[in-house]
Amino acid sequence: MSSKILDGKALAKLAEEDIQTNVSKLKKKGITPTLATILVGLDPASATYVKMKQNACARLGMKSIAVELSKDTTTEELLESIDSLNNDENVHGILLQHPVPSQINERKCFDAINVQKDVDGVTCLGFGQMTMGEEAFGSCTPAGIMRILEHYQIEISGKAAVVVGRSPILGKPMAMMLLNKNATVTICHSRTKNLEDRIKNADIVVGAVGVPRLIQKDWIKEGAVVIDAGYHPAEKCGDIDLDGIDNIASAHTPVPGGVGPMTINTLILNTLMAAQKEN
Ligand code: NAP
Repeated sequence: MSSKILDGKALAKLAEEDIQTNVSKLKKKGITPTLATILVGLDPASATYVKMKQNACARLGMKSIAVELSKDTTTEELLESIDSLNNDENVHGILLQHPVPSQINERKCFDAINVQKDVDGVTCLGFGQMTMGEEAFGSCTPAGIMRILEHYQIEISGKAAVVVGRSPILGKPMAMMLLNKNATVTICHSRTKNLEDRIKNADIVVGAVGVPRLIQKDWIKEGAVVIDAGYHPAEKCGDIDLDGIDNIASAHTPVPGGVGPMTINTLILNTLMAAQKEN
């Protein structure tokens, strides 16, 4: 068996062509899709992620507005900043980079983002709407994964899916998205017993744990679809041991070049859609 590579990097590149065309159409009407990014503090990894999102906007003819706040920012100050972006009709999407410094109530700030501008899919309201099958921007990483599965025509309905991780931005929305496509979903986390046995029964495995190679390749069922959301640059791996996966899985996302590129692409696509909806 040779596992099909679910090439997120190539798919994101392909999607960019379409996004660029649609951005040009909107610009002809005098509207430039605009993403406001909010970075609180100077965490280097967060600064890099924000920069990558701003670069993607620039590459595709969109505008980004960088709001940079000091590490001592209070919840109230951040809420004021979000409020002013909510009320700015030239801003179509708002991204509050996670994590914010610990003195800030991050959940309260996420939920202050107007759901129409919640292009990163972080609000409770957006999560609830997505879960109920209503129109909403889903959280970007799981929504990007769903776009990969759709593009490569991976069958989801009736399949046993195991999502390892239950974070608000990844594991939980991932599970709901797979459920909405009629998978039978098991959500695993740090207190799950017999993780190995659960994974051994999975037709679709999503690694969203943040632990290098936690999921071992001999836990993977023959022919399973393997999605690795993790990326650990120092160890040069994701959350799943992908060495030799070619002989086990039917399809898998590489690390890097799988899930990561589709996360940013989904954020940009959502910002475009938010601009299209308003105009
Ligand atoms: P997170 O908030 O730290 O959540 C990790 C989840 O994994 C938690 O639910 C935790 O369980 C679970 N977990 C931890 N150790 C475990 C273990 N030994 N067995 C089973 N479950 C375990 O992380 P996250 O933000 O969801 O990110 C997860 C991974 O995805 C990371 O590698 C991150 O870098 C990656 N990521 C990638 C992108 C991208 O664009 N490619 C975007 C976001 C995240 P508890 O809930 O019980 O603590």
